[in-house]
This record gives sequence, C-alpha cells and structure tokens, in this order.
Amino acid sequence: MAKFALIGSGLAGGLLAAYLGRRGHEVDLYERRADPREGNIVGGRSINLAISTRGIHALEQIGIAKEALRHAIPMRGRMIHDRSGALHFTPYDVDPQKCINSIGRAALNTTVIQAAQRYPNVRVYFDHRCTGVDLDTPVAHLETANRTVTATADAVVGVDGAFSAVRKSMQGEIANFQYDESYLAHGYKELMIPPAPDGSWRMEKNALHIWPRKSFMMIALPNPDGSFTCTLFWEFEGPRSFATTKTDDDVRRFFEEEFPDAVPLMPTLLEDFRDNPTGSLVTIRCAPWFYRDKVCLVGDAAHAVVPFYGQGMNAAFEDCIVLDECLQDSPQDRERAFAEYFHRRKENADALADLAIGNFIEMRDKTASRAFRAKKKLDHLLEGLLPGVYLPLYTMVTFTRMPYATAAKRARFQNGIVYSSLVGVGILVFLLLIGLFRVIAG
Ligand SMILES: Cc1cc2nc3c(=O)[nH]c(=O)nc-3n(C[C@H](O)[C@H](O)[C@H](O)COP(=O)(O)OP(=O)(O)OC[C@H]3O[C@@H](n4cnc5c(N)ncnc54)[C@H](O)[C@@H]3O)c2cc1C
Repeated sequence: MAKFALIGSGLAGGLLAAYLGRRGHEVDLYERRADPREGNIVGGRSINLAISTRGIHALEQIGIAKEALRHAIPMRGRMIHDRSGALHFTPYDVDPQKCINSIGRAALNTTVIQAAQRYPNVRVYFDHRCTGVDLDTPVAHLETANRTVTATADAVVGVDGAFSAVRKSMQGEIANFQYDESYLAHGYKELMIPPAPDGSWRMEKNALHIWPRKSFMMIALPNPDGSFTCTLFWEFEGPRSFATTKTDDDVRRFFEEEFPDAVPLMPTLLEDFRDNPTGSLVTIRCAPWFYRDKVCLVGDAAHAVVPFYGQGMNAAFEDCIVLDECLQDSPQDRERAFAEYFHRRKENADALADLAIGNFIEMRDKTASRAFRAKKKLDHLLEGLLPGVYLPLYTMVTFTRMPYATAAKRARFQNGIVYSSLVGVGILVFLLLIGLFRVIAG
C-alpha cells in the first residue's frame, strides 16, 4: 500500500481520502482552512450546490449518500420568473422522480471529511497551507500559523481547487505543461431570501428559481432552514454592471426594475449586496494532470468549470471514483494508473467546460422564451416516445453517468436528426399545400 499526501480537504479532497483510506492506503490530508466542524465554511464560495446522479453515485459507492442527502432538497425543475413576476415551471425530465438536489456545501464537506476519518489510516491536518511541491521527491511544503512542515509521501495529490498550489508547482517544473485559464466577463454575488416567519419557504421549495434577463440572471436554491440562497450573475464592467452599481439607491433601483417579485422577499438585500464578495468565474484547462507516479491533480485543481450546469462538484466526485478504479487496476504501477485516470477524464472535463458555458447562455437568455419551453416539451415528448433512444442533453448530463463527451456528441447527433426531420416535415407540408392549391385552382 502507498502513502498519499492530499492537499486540500474540500469536497473532492475529503471524498478521495475516504476512497483511498478504504483501499488501505496511508493518507495525510492537509487543508489550509480551519476544521469546517468548527463553523468555518468555505468562504466566498456557493453556500449550497446542486448534486445529481454522478455525485450521488460517488457518495453511494462509499456508503454515505443517505447521510449526506439527509437535508438535501429535491428540485424538480426550473421556475422561471419573468419581469412581470409571472412564473413558468419547466420540469427537468419527463420522469418527475428525476430531480437535482440542493445541498449545503459546509455540511457536505463535513460529511466527506468524517467519512475519511472513519479509516484509522487517514489523518487530517487543518490550518496547513501548501506553498509548493517538489515533484521528483515528492515533497509538499506547508505552512501553519507558527512553523513550516515538510510532508513526504509516495504521491502527492492536488485536490486544492481552482487556484491549486500543486498545479502551480507542476507548471513551474514540467516542460511543456499546458495551461489555460479564461474568465467570464460576469461575476457572481450571493444574496439571501430568509424564511417566512413560520419557518416555511417564501417561494416554491422544490424548484431551482431563475430570473433570466438576457445578458445576466439571478438564480435561487432552497436551504433546509426555509431560506433561499440567491446568486446574481452579472457583468463586472459596463453601463449597468457591478462596477456602476455602487450606492444603495443604485442597487434598489436595479433590483426593482429587474427582479420586482424578489425584492419584497429580500429584506437584507442592500446589506448583502454591500457586504458579500463578488466572485469571478473561471474555466481552467491543463495537461497533463500527473507527473510520473509522484503527483496527480483531481477536481477543480485539474479542471475548474463555470457553475451553470451544476456539475463541477459532480465531476470532481466522478474523478475520485475513476482514480480509485485506476489505482485498483494497476496496483503495482501508479504512473500507469495516473495516466489511465488522466486519459479517461480529460476529454470529459473539456466537454463539460464547453457545456457549462453553453448552459449559461441557455439559462440567462433562452429559458425565458416560448421557443425554449416548446423545445423542452418536444424533448420530453421524444424521450417518452423513444425511451432509451432519445435522451435530452440535460438528462444525459444530469441524470446518467454517461461520459460528458459522449453526451455532448450524442446530443449533437440527435439535434441534427430532429432539425432535419422538422425541415423535412416543413418541406412536405409546403409541397402538399402547393399541390392542394393547384388542384383547387384548376
Ligand atoms: C458559485 C458557484 C456555484 C457552484 N454550484 C455548483 C453546483 O450547483 N453543483 C456542482 O456540482 N458544482 C458547483 N460548483 C462547483 C464546485 O464548487 C466545485 O467544482 C467543487 O467545489 C470542486 O471541489 P474541489 O474539492 O476540487 O475544490 P474545492 O471545493 O475548491 O476545495 C479545495 C480545497 O483545497 C483547499 N486549499 C486550496 N489551496 C490550498 C493550499 N495551498 N493548501 C492547502 N489547502 C488548500 C481549500 O481551502 C479547499 O478546502 C459551483 C461553484 C461556484 C463557484
């Protein structure tokens, strides 16, 4: 059995430690933050997330799905809020049982860390910040409040998120390391809708709420305490943007114009807007994700994506399963296991990155339109008529474990057939009408 030093005990770090611990490996898990069980949440990040089939499967495989999902809230579809406050509900799937689930980040993080700590061969060190890794040894350098620590292991795994220190060391030391980061022109800010006085939810609880406004949008996910966490995705710069909306009056005016039905539900809007940070939205692609049998990247450290498909964590959890399988398949050859893991995941991570950007445009712009709702109805109709043959893209991504790249390819193929059939039907109707006209005319 090998000894692993994992850097980062976020969502994927905790879960991976549990998987490796179960296999009997020695695992030292280092996290720069304090213990989340002491009330420290991963600040500046989303308070809740949507977990779906892939993420749930990864939790099931280690036996913690029930525990993790105890307080999760099923969301059965999108609830669209138009400017007049009218609501339109579009289910995610023909099968009403298929839903995504709103889950608290801090509670989930605690659950995966506790799952890892059930194995005596897993040790967790909080308040340890990694400053870099010597790849060849491999050695991770860490800092605590009052000393520096050197962690040696057979392999170091960077599970330290989008701004990974481990990846930075790989960039510095591996010749031809490919790296690309791209930021959206939009940032995000979290705001709050508190519970009603009786503790109930002030909007439909079992839905993901969207206020699509073409170039920007707000969404809201329910929390178990009756509140909703809203996230405004808006341009950083421009005539109407985070940059130009400075005073309380600016904020109030913008919200009253754009989200009039939400404003009465947001008593702390002005304080939230002022006090909460504005986050940026980054896509990171890099290659390779490993260095010999010494270093490997997992989760956002390898492939951060923008959050619009609700799949970043789900994909990071899938990484954990695949890495575990690859290590199992090549117990004597860790480099081969890392290479196989990279080979199986890279194409899918790239496909997800593209899907996530595409879904931003769909959510903020298209969900408001009748054409979008009609397309969803057509998708559901075809799915019902051709079960197992026709699967909408959203269903493949969210409710199956089909590789993301396969789902994307299959959706393009299906769309091609649907659009050519519609064009064919249109031409046929046109020809029939001409024929009919000729018969009538003479
Ligand atoms: C606004 C927003 C909404 C999102 N919504 C969803 C959603 O609905 N569904 C979904 O599936 N995904 C969602 N995501 C994506 C999801 O948050 C990430 O994909 C997921 O957190 C990745 O997990 P991770 O463990 O790889 O990284 P992280 O969760 O970022 O964890 C990294 C950990 O490493 C630690 N760390 C960082 N640097 C160091 C260091 N130098 N030394 C030691 N420790 C370090 C951090 O403190 C952290 O604990 C969302 C993201 C955002 C920004």
